[in-house]
Amino acid sequence: MSEFSFCSSDFRAEPYWWNMTPRPAPLASALPESTDVLVIGSGYTGLHCALQTAQAGRDTTVIDAEDLGWGCSSRNGGQISGEIKPGYEELSRRYGRDDALALVREARSALDWLGEFVADQGLECDYQQCGRYLAAHNPRQFRKLVAQAQQQIPGLEQNLQIVEKRDQASEIDSDYYHGGLVIERHCGVDPAKYHQGLLNLVADSGGKLFGHCAALGIEAVGDGFKVQTSRGVIKTRELVVATNGYTGIVTPWQRRRVIPIGSYMLATEPMNQERAERLMPGRRVYSDTRRIVVYFRRSPDGRRLLFGGRVSVFESDPIRSLPALRQEMLRILPQLEDVKISHSWMGFVGYTFDTLPHLGRQDGIHYAMGYCGSGICLASYFGNRIGRQLLGESEGDSIFNRPRFQTRPLYSGNPWFLASAVRYYQLLDRLM
Ligand SMILES: Cc1cc2nc3c(=O)[nH]c(=O)nc-3n(C[C@H](O)[C@H](O)[C@H](O)COP(=O)(O)OP(=O)(O)OC[C@H]3O[C@@H](n4cnc5c(N)ncnc54)[C@H](O)[C@@H]3O)c2cc1C
Repeated sequence: MSEFSFCSSDFRAEPYWWNMTPRPAPLASALPESTDVLVIGSGYTGLHCALQTAQAGRDTTVIDAEDLGWGCSSRNGGQISGEIKPGYEELSRRYGRDDALALVREARSALDWLGEFVADQGLECDYQQCGRYLAAHNPRQFRKLVAQAQQQIPGLEQNLQIVEKRDQASEIDSDYYHGGLVIERHCGVDPAKYHQGLLNLVADSGGKLFGHCAALGIEAVGDGFKVQTSRGVIKTRELVVATNGYTGIVTPWQRRRVIPIGSYMLATEPMNQERAERLMPGRRVYSDTRRIVVYFRRSPDGRRLLFGGRVSVFESDPIRSLPALRQEMLRILPQLEDVKISHSWMGFVGYTFDTLPHLGRQDGIHYAMGYCGSGICLASYFGNRIGRQLLGESEGDSIFNRPRFQTRPLYSGNPWFLASAVRYYQLLDRLM
């Protein structure tokens, strides 16, 4: 195993976050025969939806095929943006200027909403408005960032600061980048602590939570649905699908519209504070301008580096992906050569063909998914919206209900085109 001599003696192929927040023990109680609202998927989407319905007095049941919160919601990078992938110009071409403005504004307002939610509920999850350092991977991209900061779209202005390469050490001790942009609004969180806080809120509101309970089949019956699960049949009046990058054959309409893409992360062993401080004095969340993006940050205790991205063309596993992911980290921060790796993990984010997240109702089934890697904020917000829509509350209205949730011919949920797409984007990243 000399190939892995860079791993620490206590190395684990699971999320670093689970060290502090282990997956909750499964409940032994039996699945009820019926419920008002059944939510499939116990990540941020499912739990925020369940919180709304449980608090409104609806008998609410959440099921997950694995441990509760096993999906992306306890294994992500902890970087919160409230941004959608398509920019304003692209959205204007598609939907006109007014809707473009409304889409970007609503996504951004979701970030304010989330900050207020965490504060109001007193969730202890290391939530911080730390700002993002968006680093330019070449001079051309730096010039684009400067233009972006200097010519902001009227009505969408935000606090952005240009950092020249010569001043960059105040943000990151790296020669790899050509300067960057600080986006003040962006935040960081411990994603698993945040998830655990939500789980407690749902349980305290009367929601029933069942891990290791996979939905296997859905049948529409008179006034609702009969759902076959691995723990028996449950009848429900309202059904919500909150499975995002793990959407399976049980909901084929949604599966044809979500593209699961693996994202891979590692954590280093703890460094001494002084060294970690020198590495990233800004203590921000970090990402760069590449299409095949990397993202990283210091752990909330400040002592580790958590580094993520996609380094392989084909899907891999957290062990096989680790050497290449570490090499990518060392390209940016070569001074970490002697620092051992303590954790490696991966998960599937849910992309969409129009790179927008979607929510709505199809064949009577509510859904919210497709956050394209920005789900901490948007999954939370969309979960809340879908819960409110289900309750018939006008506060649940969202402009994101409008864009059509597209699929493509011959796509049934297995992204056969992904390897070619990754190769293509890697080439573009090298060229521009
Ligand atoms: C490595 C990584 C890093 C990321 N970094 C960031 C980041 O820094 N910032 C950010 O905003 N986003 C990030 N994301 C994305 C973000 O975590 C997700 O968008 C978000 O957590 C989605 O939440 P969700 O509730 O919709 O889905 P998930 O949390 O993925 O939950 C879906 C659940 O559905 C369950 N499920 C599936 N099928 C069934 C079934 N048939 N029956 C029962 N249960 C089922 C799964 O077991 C799973 O637990 C990252 C993701 C990964 C993998």
